[in-house]
Amino acid sequence: MSVTVTCDNGIALVTIDNPPVNAASHSVRLGLEQALRQTEADDTVNAVVLHCMGRTFIAGADVKEFGQPPQDPALPDLLLQIEGASKPWVAAIHGSALGGGLETALCCHYRLAAAEAKLGLPEVQLGLLPGAGGTVRLPRLIAAERALNMISTGKPVSAQLALQDGLIDKIAAGDLLHDAVQFARSIVGKALPPTLLSRPAIKPKDTAAFEAELSKIAQKAGAQDAPKAIIQAIQNALDLPPDAALTAERRAFQILRSHPQSAAMRHVFFAERNTTKIDRLKDVAPRKISTVGVIGGGTMGAGIAAACLLSGFAVTLIERDQNAANQGAARVKATLDGSLKRGMISPAKHTHLLAALSAGADYTMLADADLVIEAVFEDLGVKQQVFKHVEAVVRPDTILATNTSYLDVNSIADATGDPSRVIGLHFFSPAHIMKLLEVVVPTAVSDAVLATAISLAKSLRKIVVLSGVCDGFIANRIMSAYRRECEYMLEDGALPWDIDTAMTEFGLPMGIFQMQDLAGLDISWAMRKRQAATRDPSLRYVDIGDKLCEQGHLGRKTGRGYYRYEDGKTARPDPEVEALILAESKRKGITRQGFAAAEIMARILSAMQTEGQRILDEGIAHNAADIDVAMINAYGFPRWRGGPMYMADTQARLGKDTA
Ligand code: NAD
Repeated sequence: MSVTVTCDNGIALVTIDNPPVNAASHSVRLGLEQALRQTEADDTVNAVVLHCMGRTFIAGADVKEFGQPPQDPALPDLLLQIEGASKPWVAAIHGSALGGGLETALCCHYRLAAAEAKLGLPEVQLGLLPGAGGTVRLPRLIAAERALNMISTGKPVSAQLALQDGLIDKIAAGDLLHDAVQFARSIVGKALPPTLLSRPAIKPKDTAAFEAELSKIAQKAGAQDAPKAIIQAIQNALDLPPDAALTAERRAFQILRSHPQSAAMRHVFFAERNTTKIDRLKDVAPRKISTVGVIGGGTMGAGIAAACLLSGFAVTLIERDQNAANQGAARVKATLDGSLKRGMISPAKHTHLLAALSAGADYTMLADADLVIEAVFEDLGVKQQVFKHVEAVVRPDTILATNTSYLDVNSIADATGDPSRVIGLHFFSPAHIMKLLEVVVPTAVSDAVLATAISLAKSLRKIVVLSGVCDGFIANRIMSAYRRECEYMLEDGALPWDIDTAMTEFGLPMGIFQMQDLAGLDISWAMRKRQAATRDPSLRYVDIGDKLCEQGHLGRKTGRGYYRYEDGKTARPDPEVEALILAESKRKGITRQGFAAAEIMARILSAMQTEGQRILDEGIAHNAADIDVAMINAYGFPRWRGGPMYMADTQARLGKDTA
C-alpha cells in the first residue's frame, strides 16, 4: 500500500510511502483518491495531515510513466478533488516538494515545512511545464514575479524563502509531524480558507519589468519550447478565468510531453542518474574521506580546494614554496569570498571554511590526508616526481588522484609503488562550479579506490562520468575532434564568426573560436609544439592558430585572437584574421566554398559523433549516454537536444522508420 490512513483523535494522517522519493505514481494517486473518500466519509475526522515516509515529501511525478499511456486518476483531477474537500488538508513537507509534489501541496488548504525543506516546480528541466495546476495556482498564492522565477528556472526555493513569499504558512519549530498535527487541531472548526482557484491572481507590481523578464526568458530559450509555453501559461493565469487557464495548461503539458525535446531531456535525466551504476562496484563500500590534500594552488588546484571546502572537507594545499602556497590560499579565499558575496554561504560558514584550509610547501602536512589530488603543471615528469614525494609521506591507504587533462594516467600510476591506489579526477574549470567530473579509471586501480573517488565526487555534487585512459578522456577528446573540424572549415570557406554563430544558434553557450580566445590560444599552441615532432605528416594540419600566436595574438587577454577585443571583452570580427584565413586557403590551393549554418553544424555534429563512436569502440566510455552526459555538462551541449550520441541514434531510428 503506497498510501495509508490512520486516525489520531479527530485528525487523519494520510501517509504516502512510495520509496525512494514518494513519486506521484499511479498507486499513490489511487491511494490518495481512496484516502480522500475515506476521510470525507468518516464523521470522526475533523482535519487531515498529508505527509510522507522516508527522506522526502512527494519529490515529483513518476518520470517512467511519461512514456506510457496515462492512467486514471490523473493528477490534475485528483488535486481538484483534494482542493474541494470539506475538511482542511494540511501538507507536512520535509525533504523536497517538487513538481507534482508541490502541486499537491498547493491543493492542500495549509502548508507546513521542515526548516531544511525545498520546494520547487522543476518541470522545465524535463522540457515540460507544471501540468497539474501549478502555473495557475502558484501566482494566486505568491507574487507573479516570484511564481515566474520558480517555474521558468525550475530551481527549488528554501523553506525560509517559501515562508517569506507566502508559499507556506509555517516552518515547523520542532518535529514536523507533531507540529502539523497540532496545527491541524488549531484550525478544527474554523472556516476553510478560499481555494487558490477562487482567488484572484497576484498581478505583477511593475508591469514593464515583468514584461521585460518575459522577453528575456523567451530570448534565452532559443529554439526550446517549454520556457515559451511557461510564459504563455503564466500570462493565461493572470488574464484568463482559472478554468480556462487550467485547460490551456493541461493542453500545453500534453503537447510538450510528447515533444522530442522532452524525450531528449528525459534521456539526459536518466543518463545522469546511471553513469556510475557498474557491475564491478555492486558490493563495494567507499572509504570515508575527511581530509583532502591538493597539490598545486593554481587555477585548478585552488578551484578544487574551494570545491572540497564548500562540501565540508578539510583541505591541505601544497605548493612549491611558501610564497606560492600563500598565493594559492589567496585564490581559494577569493573563491569563497565570491560565494559569500552571492549569499551562498553565511559569514560564519565562510570563517569556518577558511579555518579548514591549511597551505604550505611541506609535503609532511599531507600525513593525515585520506585522498590527495594533484593539480600541478601538465608535465608527466613533474607529476611522477610529485607522486613520489606524496607516497613518502602519506598513509599506505591514502588515495592518490591526478587532475591531468591529457596525460597517460597509467604511466603516472605505474611510476608509484602501488598503482592500485592511483586514479584520475578530471575536473573542469572553474572546478567549484562545473558539474562534470570525469573519473578516469586506470588499469590497476582497485574497486575500493574507484568507489571512494565516485563517492567523493558525489559529495562535491558533481555529475560523474567514468572514462578509460586515453588522450583527453571523453569530453576534451571530442572537443579536440570538432575543433579540428572547425579549423578545416576555416580553410574550406567559413570564417570564425560564421562557425561560432552557427554553434550558438544551435544552442551551445559559446562558439569554438570565442571559447579558445577566452581560454588563451597559447595553451593549445604549446601542446601543438610539444606534439610537432611526433605528428603524422600525412594528416591535414591547419596553421591558422599557430600564425595568430606567432603574431602575439593569444586571445582575449591580448586584445586579439580569432577576434578583436577593442574593449577587452566584446568579440568583433577582425578583417586581418579574415585576410590571414583567405591567404591560408590560397596557399594550400583550396577553393573556398560558402557554408550555411546547417552545414556547419552537420559537420561539427558528425565530428562529435564519429569521435564518440571511436570512444565507445575502444571501451573508453561505458555507453553512448555517458558521452551525452559528458558533452552536456562539460561543453554545454544543449540538454534539450539530448546529446550528440542521442541525436545520432534518434536520426538513425527516424531514418529506419521512414525507409
Ligand atoms: P596552473 O599553472 O594554474 O597551476 C599549476 C600550479 O602547480 C602552480 O601554481 C605551480 O606553482 C604548482 N606546482 C607546480 N609544480 C609543483 C610541485 N612540484 N609541487 C607543488 N606545486 C607545484 O595550472 P592549472 O591550469 O591549474 O592546471 C593544473 C593541472 O590541471 C594540469 O595538469 C592541467 O592539465 C589540469 N587541468 C587544467 C584545466 C584548466 O582549464 N586550466 C582543466 C582541467 C585540468
